Amino acid sequence: MPLNMFSKVEEIKGVGPKTREIMEKSGITTVRDLLYYLPRTYENFTNTTSLSEIKPGKVVVRGKISDLHIVRSKRKNFTITEGVIRDNTDAIRVVWFNQPYRVKQFDSKKDYYFTGDYTYSHGRYQLTAPRAELAPDTEKQVTESGSFKPIYSVKGSFKSENFKKIFETLRPDFATIPDLLPESESSPDFVKPGARADALFKAHFAEDDKEVKEARNYLAYEELFELILAANLNKKENQKLRAPIIPFEAEKIKQVVEKLPFELTNAQRKACFEIFKDLEKNLPMNRLLQGDVGSGKTAVAALAAYSAIIAGYQVAFLAPTAILATQHAESLNDLLAPLGISVALLTGGMKQKKALKQRIKDGGVDLVVGTHALITDDTEFDRLALCIIDEQHRFGVKQRQQLLAKTVQKSMNDGLDDSNPTINQKPLAPHLLMMTATPIPRSLQLAIFGDLDVSVLDELPKGRQPVETKIIKELEFTDELYPKVREYLASGQQVYWICRNIEENTRSETVSVKKQTEKLKKVFKDHNVTFLHGRMKPEEKDKIMSEFANGKIDILVSTTVVEVGVNVPNANLMVIMDADGYGLAQLHQLRGRVGRGKNSAICYLVSPNDIEPARRLKILEKSNDGFYLAEADLKLRGPGEIYGSLQHGVMSLQFASLTNTRLISAASAEAKKAADEFSKTPELLEKYPELSFSIKKYQQLTTLN
Ligand code: ADP
Ligand code: MG
Repeated sequence: MPLNMFSKVEEIKGVGPKTREIMEKSGITTVRDLLYYLPRTYENFTNTTSLSEIKPGKVVVRGKISDLHIVRSKRKNFTITEGVIRDNTDAIRVVWFNQPYRVKQFDSKKDYYFTGDYTYSHGRYQLTAPRAELAPDTEKQVTESGSFKPIYSVKGSFKSENFKKIFETLRPDFATIPDLLPESESSPDFVKPGARADALFKAHFAEDDKEVKEARNYLAYEELFELILAANLNKKENQKLRAPIIPFEAEKIKQVVEKLPFELTNAQRKACFEIFKDLEKNLPMNRLLQGDVGSGKTAVAALAAYSAIIAGYQVAFLAPTAILATQHAESLNDLLAPLGISVALLTGGMKQKKALKQRIKDGGVDLVVGTHALITDDTEFDRLALCIIDEQHRFGVKQRQQLLAKTVQKSMNDGLDDSNPTINQKPLAPHLLMMTATPIPRSLQLAIFGDLDVSVLDELPKGRQPVETKIIKELEFTDELYPKVREYLASGQQVYWICRNIEENTRSETVSVKKQTEKLKKVFKDHNVTFLHGRMKPEEKDKIMSEFANGKIDILVSTTVVEVGVNVPNANLMVIMDADGYGLAQLHQLRGRVGRGKNSAICYLVSPNDIEPARRLKILEKSNDGFYLAEADLKLRGPGEIYGSLQHGVMSLQFASLTNTRLISAASAEAKKAADEFSKTPELLEKYPELSFSIKKYQQLTTLN
């Protein structure tokens, strides 16, 4: 009997109600979930370092421990356990924190393996909080007793050892794990019958690094295959919907473009053209407009909106925050109101919302600007044909359905096609344009956005100067920073001052918005220094932001609420306190708030007085190019980091590294073929229950239908 991947964990021998409960809390409910709960790392006792050759970093040493004692710390409820580890070459210091039991744990005559970080701290080297494991007596036994050990992350009271025990129980069943991927002649060699069972077995019972690598390679491929297959099937799903046809009125668009206060960049023209082409079809557009900060995405969106509106439709424009929605409403109104288009702002806190909603429903408003909440609330449209979503590159299945519900299908003739009667049966859906400033390396676009068409603004408007970027220490404020700030203020320009925290916080030494504001009020007495943070009421935030935009505030001390999208071209100096604490992508976004006009701009990254600045700060000093920085970030920290915070965990790959372009292209070639097969013969997918399960899971996250 093959192992039933969907059966519940409690059906495994030795898993009782308590274990089940702990596992459920960490998202493990089925056998499948459990098998894919892979070791966090492996202890490798075959490669121990002798103490005379030890270097700082991760180490495994073998030795005897002595002189164990507890040192009382000055801090309450905090203990340090110290000792000495010796082998026949040398001795080192070892410490554990808040683990007083360690004093009694060891037999001073026996050898143990210690795995941990050898670090320099408080003036000396030490092995800090290592894991310890009794070593077998002879070298022969080392290999027999498993010198290569999986370590699982702790889940609640469930330790690595508990996981090991369960997998030991399951060991004989691993061979019966069913295959998951469809095979074709062109599949990579490692996709063959039994490959999955083999990979999972190796992941849990690896005997060396090579096996771990093989296991992970297969599992990464499987993961990418599922993701890309889901994306491709999404694309096909999207084709089951019908969208209103928005004809491209070249003359009218040209007239508007000529009236713009600037000349469009070539990249903007190209993106507009790609969008107009999509809008002319009776299939819903599903396009991502990607452009570095300041590349002018709003103008492109405005032209797309204009095109839909002159065709008689309504457009929704969604921004991530109320501040941004307000700003967008203003700038879109500036652009479009002179053309006779009515623009309305709809945010949570506003008065007379009911009346406005009625007008939207009656079709009295052409363009509605609001926060993302606009699609989840009860706002109804008369003839919604285009939805523009700023600073979000994923739109879940639920959101799309909510949009569908808003498209009152009053005009059933929209998008009808006389020559193609089948299309006339399809449900009517609006076109979607998503915009993001997150630079996604080209190597990743296919993997992440296989279901989207992408337009890229890879060119900044003419005359834009790169933002000069400088790392600075607080010690240099008086001599260097303050004079520079005075210079900018004297020329009538404004300043952003970014701090991590809102208030002083005992646990961290970072500067708070409130403290910094008090300080700057003293330093720049004749200027208006005001603070802004995310916990203020929306109306209050809007008021401060518009005062800043109108030049009434000189220095805006703020948390990262100004990070996305805010556009105040007169603000050209930015100071980022505790810059070491932010990721590269986030710093680039923040920096993108300055240098949005014709004036030269400067950004100071404040790094602590006594330490070497982080490498990413130095990279930022050198480059303003979002794509270059994204690649650099990918190398420095891996993809999870870049996208983690920006995508709110929407896109978390467990095994695959998005830097592995070879594996991505192999998986995507195969997944595309499979998508064709499955959409031709949907029953075929029933033969792959796990694959359909994963596809549904990914579609929840990534689909646009
Ligand atoms: P982002 O892509 O970051 O959303 P915006 O759309 O906010 O950028 O544009 C940034 C600034 O550049 C705005 O002040 C906008 O008016 C201006 N801008 C947009 N396109 C051009 C252009 N082609 N030439 C000059 N300035 C432009
Ligand atoms: Mg923007």
